[in-house]
Amino acid sequence: MIIGGGVIGLSIAYHLGQRKAGKVVLLEKGQLGEGSTSRCVGGIRMQFSTEINIRFSLESLKTFDHFQEEFGVNPEFRKIGYLFLATTEQEVETFKGNVILQRRFGIPVEWLDPDEIRRRCPYLRMDDILGGTFCAWDGYAGPSEVLSGFSIAAKRAGVMIYEGAEVKEIEVNQGKITGVRTNGEEFSSPVVVNAGGPYASLIGEMVNLHVPVKPLRRQVFVTAPFDLAGQSIPLTIDFHRGWYFRREVDGFLLSGPLDKEPSFNTTTDYEAMVEASENAIYRVPALEKARIARGWAGLYEISPDNHAILGKVPGVEGFILANGFSGHGFQHSPAVGKVISELILDGKATTIDISPLSIERFEKGELLLEPMTAFKE
Ligand SMILES: Cc1cc2nc3c(=O)[nH]c(=O)nc-3n(C[C@H](O)[C@H](O)[C@H](O)COP(=O)(O)OP(=O)(O)OC[C@H]3O[C@@H](n4cnc5c(N)ncnc54)[C@H](O)[C@@H]3O)c2cc1C
Repeated sequence: MIIGGGVIGLSIAYHLGQRKAGKVVLLEKGQLGEGSTSRCVGGIRMQFSTEINIRFSLESLKTFDHFQEEFGVNPEFRKIGYLFLATTEQEVETFKGNVILQRRFGIPVEWLDPDEIRRRCPYLRMDDILGGTFCAWDGYAGPSEVLSGFSIAAKRAGVMIYEGAEVKEIEVNQGKITGVRTNGEEFSSPVVVNAGGPYASLIGEMVNLHVPVKPLRRQVFVTAPFDLAGQSIPLTIDFHRGWYFRREVDGFLLSGPLDKEPSFNTTTDYEAMVEASENAIYRVPALEKARIARGWAGLYEISPDNHAILGKVPGVEGFILANGFSGHGFQHSPAVGKVISELILDGKATTIDISPLSIERFEKGELLLEPMTAFKE
């Protein structure tokens, strides 16, 4: 039984169906993908600063690279590369450390000095840039394409998917999961996966468990058609300002602010659009002439150390967590589905050791801290 029909729940459902796990049911309170997945901008990168995130990226990349063969759906994966820009000495030091770590995994990440960045990206304001990193394996794909690939394949593998089915209660008997009750039905099951995205903590409360995931609003904006002289433009991150941009069809996608206070608010506001535009004009002066055409907001599912919370829960047998992706859930969804299906069917995730991502790390004080505040797409 899987609660949540976003990209994570559907990837888990697909992998369980694929391995002929018996009766697999997925319950979605609204429509498939209506949560964070439909608000996501599809970024996929190898450039992470912790080993565990790099492992999830590399494993997921195998699926994105062969998505069409496996699922019969074109994921629209565009490897435009990610360019991280450093503007302080501390960032330079951290980025260079990241390059060493990423290269250990065979990732072809490059350190670029300011002259090389100027040569490749003549549209950037350069006076405060001290260097940057670029990886040609990074890029972005279509969240709705990937979601439908997983859901079509899950259904084909026999998974039963219910939309409009909101889980209201999870039944536990003597410390063991026995089933769930929705707005209309009861289902019995010895295993329940929490794939509730930003709602993960509300689902945790149903078994008296504190799942430390906060919903934080992120806004993004898209310009009307606009060109920067036909250049090939990587997804570019002004790390210090927490701002990024990339091509979006004929215009540009500009990141807006990330809220500091948790809420389920998914409206866009004028101040956020102004902030996104100011950051854009600062780093790419030519964008002053671009016009914002639309915008939207969605919820990140932030954990205390910006890493996922995966696996079993002490004291509630059969309850499995697949939460807290902290803005990286789309790109890691293929690997997450695989490891959670291994955990359920084999008792242990073998493709990647997920023990560092256990919920118990918060009580034990074993947080997975990154060298600097994590970047979020
Ligand atoms: C603006 C924005 C940009 C992003 N960009 C990127 C990016 O570039 N790259 C990347 O990797 N990630 C990105 N993310 C993050 C990514 O969208 C999420 O990590 C990912 O979609 C999480 O998927 P999920 O399936 O866990 O959650 P969701 O897609 O939110 O799915 C959870 C589902 O659970 C359902 N649900 C909740 N409670 C119940 C209940 N009681 N009963 C039944 N159903 C329930 C919800 O309706 C929802 O559909 C971005 C997020 C935002 C907001």
